[in-house]
Amino acid sequence: MEHRVLVIGGGVAGSSCALRLRSRGIDVHVAEKLSFPRAKVCGCCIGGVGLDLLEQLSLRSWVETHGLKTSKWSGSIGGTRVELSLPDGIAISRESLDTEMLRRAADAGAEIFSPVSARVDQLLPDSVTTSLSASEGTSWMERYAAVVVASGLNASGSQRLLPWVEKPNGPFGAAFFARSDSLDTGTIYMACDDDGYVGLVRLEDNRVDIAAALSSRRSREQQIHEMRDATSAGGPGGFGSAKDRIDRILMHSRLQHWQYHDPTPVMTTPPLRRLRRPGVGRLIAIGDAAGYVEPFTGEGMTWGILSGIAAADLIADSSNDLSGLGERWSQQLPALLRKRRLACRAVTSLLRSPLGRRAIAATLSQWPGLAAPLIHHLNRT
Ligand SMILES: Cc1cc2nc3c(=O)[nH]c(=O)nc-3n(C[C@H](O)[C@H](O)[C@H](O)COP(=O)(O)OP(=O)(O)OC[C@H]3O[C@@H](n4cnc5c(N)ncnc54)[C@H](O)[C@@H]3O)c2cc1C
Repeated sequence: MEHRVLVIGGGVAGSSCALRLRSRGIDVHVAEKLSFPRAKVCGCCIGGVGLDLLEQLSLRSWVETHGLKTSKWSGSIGGTRVELSLPDGIAISRESLDTEMLRRAADAGAEIFSPVSARVDQLLPDSVTTSLSASEGTSWMERYAAVVVASGLNASGSQRLLPWVEKPNGPFGAAFFARSDSLDTGTIYMACDDDGYVGLVRLEDNRVDIAAALSSRRSREQQIHEMRDATSAGGPGGFGSAKDRIDRILMHSRLQHWQYHDPTPVMTTPPLRRLRRPGVGRLIAIGDAAGYVEPFTGEGMTWGILSGIAAADLIADSSNDLSGLGERWSQQLPALLRKRRLACRAVTSLLRSPLGRRAIAATLSQWPGLAAPLIHHLNRT
């Protein structure tokens, strides 16, 4: 147990952390509650910073080989068309990416428990006690030197030990897959209007990923309630209406060639904007579990990988004394992400206001080069 770490969640953040911990010689267990491959609400695009981070984990060339290159952004902002060139990025399905990352963590020596759900029970001065439950009903308790919560937006159960600094609010995510003959490969399509925004991209297996952040018209409590009640396809409130709203945004976009067929059931998320206390004692949170802003700039995976690697380094560097790990992480994480979160909030606030949208659309449709500093910031800093 002395230096053994548990990572709860085997998404991009959890796997990155486990991979880095193994490369620093730390014993690590990963508990993932779902069987992989699994789909999730995501735009599935990775830009330059994300690819550089994947290089540190020796995953870049695998991602570049198995994903599809993206080099163009074709958007409709309140009905006005804007086209921008992008530095090379990658579109890759989360089924394929997350499965490979978790497999690499296992190959590097991490012990993977899946499908196993984990819960933190108690923080002790010298360890963290946890409960693990396998889907077939077995459960057991384990003590770890430190625990990393990487359980994404549904990090329920962490509120008691890592309380909200900002409770979940704002838009919610919705996504489904479809087929389309009319979408160019290598182009990220986006449309936004009063209802929120939708992104479409072709994936490596020829499906089209359609992911949206839909604005909240109802109260936060009502939304959370609806999301909790909804079942996989067409439950009350959340799903059926999410798809109608996505279709409406696409129709308003006046890009008629966005025709799709054979849609899968819609997946949704709770409200996206949130911030959690990053750590306490020997417990820390990374990726979406630590906080999230919005998906317009498509950086969530990058933030997850960045925080996973940094958390692993902090654990490895503090392995002689892990008692103040959470407090150190609470200083480090906000500094690591502050600039990116601010840029992301600024872009989405501008796009949410009709006036802001008109100004951006009028400017960028005439002078697309003016987007270059933001694109550069998102891809290279
Ligand atoms: C509409 C939308 C579009 C987006 N588009 C993009 C994009 O284009 N590019 C981008 O980079 N990001 C995008 N994102 C953000 C991105 O999807 C997330 O930021 C990213 O997946 C976060 O990774 P994570 O590892 O923190 O969480 P997740 O990927 O959610 O992984 C968490 C894992 O933890 C597991 N888990 C949960 N609870 C437990 C438990 N108790 N025990 C064990 N396991 C558990 C879950 O099953 C899950 O596999 C988008 C998000 C939305 C909503």
